[in-house]
Amino acid sequence: MTEYDAVVIGAGNGGLAAAAALAKGGAKTLLLERHNVPGGCATSFCRGRFEFEVALHQLSGLGTEAAPGPLRATLHGLDVLDKVEFVQMENMYRIALPGALDLTLPTTRDGVVRALAERFPAEEAAIRSFFDLVYDYFNQFIAIFFMRDPDVSREKYPLYFQYALKPAQEVLDEHFRDPLLKLALGAYWCYIGVPPRQLPFGDLAGILYAYIEFKPWHIKGGSQALSNALVDAFLRNGGEVRFNCAAAKITVADGRVAGVVTADGEAVATGCIIANASALTTFTELIDRKDCPAAPLETMSGMTVGPSVVCLYIGLDCPPEALGIREETNFLCTHADMERAYAQYRTLDEPPGMVLLTCFNISNPEASPPGTSQIAIVDLKYADPWLAIPPERYAREKYRYAEGLLAIAEAQYPGFRSHIEEIEVSTPLTHMRYLNHPGGAIYGFDQYAKDSRIFQPIKPALPGLFLAGAWAAEGGFQPTLMAGASTGRAALKTIRRK
Ligand SMILES: Cc1cc2nc3c(=O)[nH]c(=O)nc-3n(C[C@H](O)[C@H](O)[C@H](O)COP(=O)(O)OP(=O)(O)OC[C@H]3O[C@@H](n4cnc5c(N)ncnc54)[C@H](O)[C@@H]3O)c2cc1C
Repeated sequence: MTEYDAVVIGAGNGGLAAAAALAKGGAKTLLLERHNVPGGCATSFCRGRFEFEVALHQLSGLGTEAAPGPLRATLHGLDVLDKVEFVQMENMYRIALPGALDLTLPTTRDGVVRALAERFPAEEAAIRSFFDLVYDYFNQFIAIFFMRDPDVSREKYPLYFQYALKPAQEVLDEHFRDPLLKLALGAYWCYIGVPPRQLPFGDLAGILYAYIEFKPWHIKGGSQALSNALVDAFLRNGGEVRFNCAAAKITVADGRVAGVVTADGEAVATGCIIANASALTTFTELIDRKDCPAAPLETMSGMTVGPSVVCLYIGLDCPPEALGIREETNFLCTHADMERAYAQYRTLDEPPGMVLLTCFNISNPEASPPGTSQIAIVDLKYADPWLAIPPERYAREKYRYAEGLLAIAEAQYPGFRSHIEEIEVSTPLTHMRYLNHPGGAIYGFDQYAKDSRIFQPIKPALPGLFLAGAWAAEGGFQPTLMAGASTGRAALKTIRRK
């Protein structure tokens, strides 16, 4: 039986970053991926003359060379920073509600405050004090979690203790009167999938701070280019990768991991496994019930599977300006009630309250062939209503629902529909199939305050087993890449100790 220092199950962001860190540290590492390409969500696919980005709309945490963000150091440490080309976006986002709001926020703190104050002049002082709070809060967060202050107390970090878990909606309500202003500032809740009433303020503050300070980015060649670069770095350092090769079992002996059996029946031995498969799959399918520790099952019994997504991948036969598409990231709203918009994650009977329409060509004209545009329309949805559709009605329902999303785009950009050259529609069932995750969840478990990573156990539940990816802590590119790399380094330490 072949023996490895470590086996990584899954080549999503978390798995790739962990694998690259392990190989770089000299560990003999095997990476298993059930799909035929690396990346998980971080991948692309082709239709006609278009190569569509599956998932990356705004990369956070990178920062510029002059003002680097934490992700830059992580990618440098994995030897991929100079292997991909990043493209900075000009604006943070546009948010539009027909007849009520049409506002574009730039990527500087002053610019955001100015744009909001121009549109909501009566609330200028409150806007300024809100951003003071966002920054003061987040600086305390940085001191605690990034600078690792060993002396953390309520007296020293009062804002952290007061605001980390406070619902974002309460903070928005304390500051502002106009619901449209709250809508404009709360828009990023959909990047976490939890509405402001349940979203910890710390998460909203963190995401606003990250995109303002470190700017939103794209990658030339899409997220697939970064996934490929991570695989190349892994291979350069002696790693071994197998595609079309799922892990079917994690074997356990004497209360610690002992190896992996692939879906083809091959058994490999290892004392260290990093699972980028979902935590639910890992503990309820890959590990036999008799070998599974009780603690993770108990923890997961109080958690819920987060949302997946309906996504329209669209190639237009015209450049963006022909349709008046000027912004890259567009939150298009049909009403201003964010709680209702969240409730609509669970139904196919009404149009969504908010969709994200991204036009990749605005910052990167090479995102599609000359004279065309690459667009994605993203609508977060739980899997439940899709799972309830009988198979024979699925295709009809999918295209019926997609028509509603196209209607939102058409209302914003008249003529949109008539310029569609290619279109592909994904639903939560598509993401279940490609990711092997329950509900096709793209951010792992619902990220409610009670499930905040502040409360997550740090120690591995089963000696030798580590989790990496959205199901282990937080979803999104920056969190999964950074946590994946640090999990790889933590695993390396245990291998070296052995
Ligand atoms: C449409 C869409 C839009 C998004 N937009 C953004 C955005 O703009 N910004 C952002 O930061 N995030 C965004 N996200 C979320 C982000 O892409 C994910 O949270 C992140 O990529 C998840 O990474 P992960 O490490 O958890 O791995 P995943 O991407 O979940 O991949 C897991 C991998 O494990 C493999 N696997 C599973 N089981 C097994 C097994 N038994 N054996 C072998 N392999 C297995 C799967 O095939 C997969 O490759 C978006 C996601 C989607 C789908």
